Amino acid sequence: MKIELAESYGFCFGVKRAIKIAEENKNSSTYGPLIHNSKEIARLDKDYKVGLSEDFTTFKEGEKAIVRTHGIVKDELAQLKDSGVDVVDATCPFVTKPQEIAQEMSEAGYDVVIFGDEAHPEIKGVKSYATHGATVVTNVFDLIELKLRDRVALIAQTTRKVEDYIEIANYLIPRHKEVRVFNTICNATFENQEAVRKLSKKADVMIIIGGKNSSNTKQLSSISHDFCANSHHIEDENDIDYAWFKDKKLCGISAGASTPDWIIQNVVDSISENC
Ligand code: SF4
Repeated sequence: MKIELAESYGFCFGVKRAIKIAEENKNSSTYGPLIHNSKEIARLDKDYKVGLSEDFTTFKEGEKAIVRTHGIVKDELAQLKDSGVDVVDATCPFVTKPQEIAQEMSEAGYDVVIFGDEAHPEIKGVKSYATHGATVVTNVFDLIELKLRDRVALIAQTTRKVEDYIEIANYLIPRHKEVRVFNTICNATFENQEAVRKLSKKADVMIIIGGKNSSNTKQLSSISHDFCANSHHIEDENDIDYAWFKDKKLCGISAGASTPDWIIQNVVDSISENC
């Protein structure tokens, strides 16, 4: 069986940057998981003594706190700084941008609508910057009951599918006097999604590698399923069921933006050796 990697996959600019920052700040802790990949986080802990705290109040004066790639809630950042914690910001610049837009638009009197997952740390952070509050939606149906005013600002989670975002914009535009649509979906997401779309159209079986809680990996998996019913989201080679490859000719592989190369290589090697 032939194995083909997507033209664009894996580590993005923001994740590479965050890992470099963590490696440069040995003996520190991140507030929340730095990226959505537990194996890479374990490597940083083992090799660089970069720990993890899920509670920002555990950081004491003079200690170093690395802010995760997805960003954190505005008030928590202020409290960390106020309590004398040495804050090292590894928030991806593509996440800082929607935070700034949320604040600016909210202060300018727009109703801020965010297309994304309310429970995701990135969205908790972005929402917290909207000074007068924001509404998070996951699809057009969430908009039907909303009483939005004339001026609406629309922001997307960086990892969302473009087609879904356009649907939300198309619903809002004819119903409001002014709708400002910000393209906050990041380039890495665009490129990885486009590449998985292309590959899944011709592959007999698709393997998408990434953390189960990784939003961008889930989006890649969803796109892959649209074109190849035989698509599987795995975290590493241990999740592989070799029955998936029986009588298949082409296996396509892609990976989320927080999946390190060494995990992808392990998967490729396991499939090559066993199929
Ligand atoms: S997927 Fe995009 S927004 Fe998220 S960390 Fe990577 S570059 Fe930044």
